[in-house]
Amino acid sequence: MRNIWIFIEQKDRKIQPVGLELLSETKRLLKDDVSLTAILLTNTHDQKDIDLMTYCGANNIIIVEDERLKDYDTTYYSHAITNLMRDDRPDVFLIGSTLEGRDLAPRISARLNTGLTADATKLDFELTEERLKLFATRPALGGNLFATIICENTVPQMATIRPSIFAIEENKSRTSKVIIKPFEIKETSKVQILSKEKLAHKKVELNKAQVIIAGGRGVSNMFSTLKDLAYLVGGEVAASRAVVDANIEQKDRLVGQTGTTVHPKVYLASGISGAIQHISGMDKSELIIAVNTDPNALIFDVADVSIIADAKKVLPLVKEELKALRAYKTH
Ligand SMILES: Cc1cc2nc3c(=O)[nH]c(=O)nc-3n(C[C@H](O)[C@H](O)[C@H](O)COP(=O)(O)OP(=O)(O)OC[C@H]3O[C@@H](n4cnc5c(N)ncnc54)[C@H](O)[C@@H]3O)c2cc1C
Repeated sequence: MRNIWIFIEQKDRKIQPVGLELLSETKRLLKDDVSLTAILLTNTHDQKDIDLMTYCGANNIIIVEDERLKDYDTTYYSHAITNLMRDDRPDVFLIGSTLEGRDLAPRISARLNTGLTADATKLDFELTEERLKLFATRPALGGNLFATIICENTVPQMATIRPSIFAIEENKSRTSKVIIKPFEIKETSKVQILSKEKLAHKKVELNKAQVIIAGGRGVSNMFSTLKDLAYLVGGEVAASRAVVDANIEQKDRLVGQTGTTVHPKVYLASGISGAIQHISGMDKSELIIAVNTDPNALIFDVADVSIIADAKKVLPLVKEELKALRAYKTH
């Protein structure tokens, strides 16, 4: 049976969603026709981790456990995985396109002398008796077109895939086989972590926000109003690249191809034209409300509610309404 391996990223002893998203999507696409193997490198694991990977579709779970694998380390992680692949190469190996995944994947592909498609946003497979072929699609040429890339002459066929694109689907009736492998490595890491410090900001990560109040160049001088609106609805402020490039908002607020992919319940886009690079990061939002003075703005193509008007007039009115609603609710 053909085999796909999926790297399961963990941080601070917590499995990160992207690995589970990749398990769920490959299971959805290939059902039980292919064997899925989750690869977890960690210093310790528990039954909850195994259940999560199993319920999301892993038929096999390979765990390499060692104190040196507690935190991500380029040397240890890349050697541990290439060592696993020396005995047994899967047809396909998928990794989340996170900071760690983007560091890890090219090192593994270079060591194994195989191809890698980076930053894919869509996966497809062709399964025949002879082989399993991966089609990884990603924005190309400045985001002006989507390219589907195949690397069919070497194995594993590798791709990194952006987080938050696919839904996690659990099925509690699934079972899996767990294989614990030793961590045997001659190399020593050149990196020593002396201390770790969390950045002191209370912002919720954009891909976890339920309501997003986003602004573009058309409202670049209205971000204090956008922040008020976000506060009133318990949401998060986001921005287009025009705003981030102008240093009005920070990079962690950027939505789109080079920023975060989001799927909130509500996405309010004001003064955003709707370039493909922005749309590709927010078009899966449940309800999109767009405010733009240009009736031909591309953002209206994906909007559920289109408000063709000056945001400078609309947003203060929305703010007053929300304030009144809030006051009403608290009385
Ligand atoms: C490789 C590459 C990657 C990129 N990645 C990203 C990305 O991740 N995210 C991203 O956002 N962009 C990205 N871009 C940039 C993208 O192509 C656009 O240039 C950018 O999204 C435009 O931002 P904007 O919509 O805020 O500005 P503009 O395109 O200038 O649009 C401003 C809009 O505001 C409207 N407007 C003006 N005044 C008002 C008003 N008073 N009220 C209401 N509406 C008003 C205008 O009608 C216009 O539609 C990328 C580009 C490249 C080449």
